Parts: sequence; structure tokens; C-alpha cells
Amino acid sequence: MKTKTIFLFVIISVLLMTELSAQNFLTDSYYQNYHKYKEEAIKSKRFTNADILPLIEKLKSNNLFEVTKLGESLLGKDIYQLKIGNGKTKILAWSQMHGDESTATMALFDLFNFLKADDDFNKLRELLFENLTIYFIPMLNPDGAEIFTRRNAGMVDLNRDAARLQFPESKILKKVRDELEPEFGFNLHDQSSYYTAGNNFKTATISFLAPAYNYEKEINEVRSNTMKVIVDLNNELSKIIPGHIGRYSDDFEPRAFGDNLVKWGTSSVLIESGGWKDDAEKQFIRKLNFISLLVAFESIAKGNYNSNNIDYYFAIPQNERLLYDVILRNALIEIHGKEFLMDVAINRNERINRNGEKTYYSSISELGDLSIFYGYEEYDLSNMKLEPGKIYKDDYYHELEKEDLTELLNDGFTDFLSDTLYVKEIDLRKTKVNLFTDKERKSTNEIRLFRNANFVVKKDDQVKYLFINGFLVNPKVDFTTVENGLLID
Ligand SMILES: [Zn+2]
Repeated sequence: MKTKTIFLFVIISVLLMTELSAQNFLTDSYYQNYHKYKEEAIKSKRFTNADILPLIEKLKSNNLFEVTKLGESLLGKDIYQLKIGNGKTKILAWSQMHGDESTATMALFDLFNFLKADDDFNKLRELLFENLTIYFIPMLNPDGAEIFTRRNAGMVDLNRDAARLQFPESKILKKVRDELEPEFGFNLHDQSSYYTAGNNFKTATISFLAPAYNYEKEINEVRSNTMKVIVDLNNELSKIIPGHIGRYSDDFEPRAFGDNLVKWGTSSVLIESGGWKDDAEKQFIRKLNFISLLVAFESIAKGNYNSNNIDYYFAIPQNERLLYDVILRNALIEIHGKEFLMDVAINRNERINRNGEKTYYSSISELGDLSIFYGYEEYDLSNMKLEPGKIYKDDYYHELEKEDLTELLNDGFTDFLSDTLYVKEIDLRKTKVNLFTDKERKSTNEIRLFRNANFVVKKDDQVKYLFINGFLVNPKVDFTTVENGLLID
């Protein structure tokens, strides 16, 4: 009889728990309603401290937030903390310790809009504010953000300054951590878009890590709590981006903040925003960050994570660097008079032009058998020849008739002579071909590692396609839609 009762109790508990965990997270509602909270003042990934200060200023007048200036960066830019909630469990979340990793900063401002709103999510807000006190530091490295670069103004990677603590930004983070002794930390970064989640073609769009606190990678309670929160994050995000969640390498780095925070007693979750096809500005991944943080806060406020099994953390596929922007497969390439079957990988590296606009410089990143790699874009060039793009010096580009230009493209020319004045006036983003101003130009295009990706694709000796600065151009159809020509000077 007694055994039967216990058995029944277990069954009911299991049913209740399943029921609870099925209903526990509001992931779907976050996804559906995100647009209401998106901070419209930030539209793309490149923005500076000057762009976020007015937003912080506005939040000062909201009673929910306690805004404190924590200090200044090396070049004197203000670094702020925003505090919200009155709960027992303290959480510290900081973003953009690396200046060119801004995805989470965008999401934090969306999150602030969410937290201060008054709508159907009020019950959740009550739950968060009663159980948690959350401290946010958006943009820990404003000097790096100013020029969209990883390091601070001392040319140091702040995530290697957690032990030595030389720079004001690192000191600020350490001081806040020591004063608050938060139970949980959220260390918010971006990683290269060339990682996959495991050995397959799926981009690692979000990656998580429960950092190690020693070389042995031992698991104590602080670290296992991090893993348990990540289990919830992985489960919930898998509903939106199944297969696109990776696990970051847990090699111990004694100079990094995440690793040290665990050592100091804070369960710190590393969230890395990676790549997603056609999301160079990371606006979709921004939304995923927003959802991740809410799921994590929900899990901690309700204590859900406690019942998670860390085996599910280890089941998340590891990050692998298997991606390129473009892969051309099975092309025939002539080298020293002989033909070889080769794949060519191209990466499109972002550059800012003289007007502060984003352009690309595409280079050949790898050559040879790339059958184990994947491309965001892939082209099968079986039975086709790949040759270097030709250089045209006989007339100025802007003096060519449209018919002549079409004919030249169909002849395999990718680079055209231009005069300096013309180049100064035009919008380079709208240039369909590569332009150069040196009539005596000696350099040619070559299919060699790290060279600019300018190719002619030929089938049966006819030009089928061009690749101009890494972008496909069909000279017979739509070359006018390509807007990524390069100025070679
Ligand atoms: Zn980073």
C-alpha cells in the first residue's frame, strides 16, 4: 500500500513537473511581441557611446531604474550601471567588453523597454522584480565601440585583464562584482560568424559557455548552476533556431573575466552571438539575445534551472570553425600551365569607406579540397574553368557606353580604369566593378591565397559568370544589381 502511494506520488509529481516545464517559459510570447520593445534609436551594429547616453539619460527619469555612473573609460567616456528589481538573487550582466561586439548591447536596450512597459507581461515583471535584482552594464568598452574594434584604447583585450586589472574598464567590472557578489553573471559577446554548431553546415548563431575556473575543468556548484541555466536557454532557443546553438570551448583562460567570475563565486553564463545568413547587422540575433536574457531571468527567478541535468549542457554540439562566406566548388584552375580541380573559399571582410559606410573587401581565404567546409553561399562550378578577372586600361570607365561595358564584362573584365575626379564623386557602394586610377597599374588579379576575389567563370570557353570583389555577377542578366565594386588605389 505504502509503495503504491509513493509510486502514485512520483507519477503525479512527474506529470506536474512536465506540465510546469511545458508552460514555464514565455519564449513564444517574447518572440511574438519583441517588436513592441525594440529600441528604434539603434538600427545597426555600429553605434557609439554617444548614441546610448541619451537612452540612459531617459531611463534615469523612470523610477524602476536606478542609474549610476560607475566610472570612465581610458579616454574619459562614461560607463553606466542600470539597476532594476528588489529581489534576493543578484544578477550582473555586462555587454561589449569587446568594442566590436555590440549585439547584446542592442538587446539590452530592447530589454530595458520591455522591463519598463506596462502590459500583459506585468505578471512576469512582478516575478522578476520580486525575486531578482539585476545590474546591467551596457557597453563596458566605449572607446573600442567608438571605432568598432575589439580592444580598448590601451590596445588591450579587456578579457585578458581580469587578473592583472590594469585598465579602468576592467577595474570597474571587478569592483562591481566584488561589491555585489552576484549569484549569476551574464558575459555578453559576439563571435566570428564562421562557426558552426557541431560538424555540419548549421551556423552557430548563439553559443553558450559555462566557463571553467581551473585547468582541470572541475565542476563545482557555481559552475554547474551556470550549466543548468544554459540547459534552459538551449531548450528554449532550440524552439526558434533548432540546430544553430553551439557550445563554446571550455579551455580555462586564467586572464578572462568569465573564468575568474566562476572562481570568485558568480555563476557566469557566456553568451556569444555568432552568424545567421543574411543578418550581417545582427538584428535577428539581437532578438535572440533579448529572448535569451528573459528566459535566463525567468529560469533564475522561478528556480527552474535547479532541476536541470548538466548532461544536457554537454550534449550541446561544440563550436567548429567550418564556414566561409562563399565556396566555389569543383572549379578547374590553371596553375603553371596545368589544370587542377579546386575549391575556392571567399570571405567578405567588412570595411568602412571614406563616407563612413559599410563596404566589403573580399579575399580568397582558402584553396584546395574544401569538401569538409561549408559556405553561406555555395556555387558548383563542375566542368567550368576559373580564371583571374581581366583588367581594362584602354578607356575610362565612366566614358564607356553601356553596350561596350556589357561587352567587356562578357569578355571577362572585372577591373576598370577611372580618373581620380570621377572616383571622388561617385558613391562607391554603387560601383558595379572594381575601379583603379593608376594607368601604370602593374598588379593583376591572381587566384592565390589572400588575394582579392575577382574571377571569370568559363564554360566551353564562354564567360558564364564573374566574381567581382567576391560577389557573383551574371554579365548577361543583372550586373547592374551588384553594388560592391572596389576602389583599388
Ligand atoms: Zn568578445
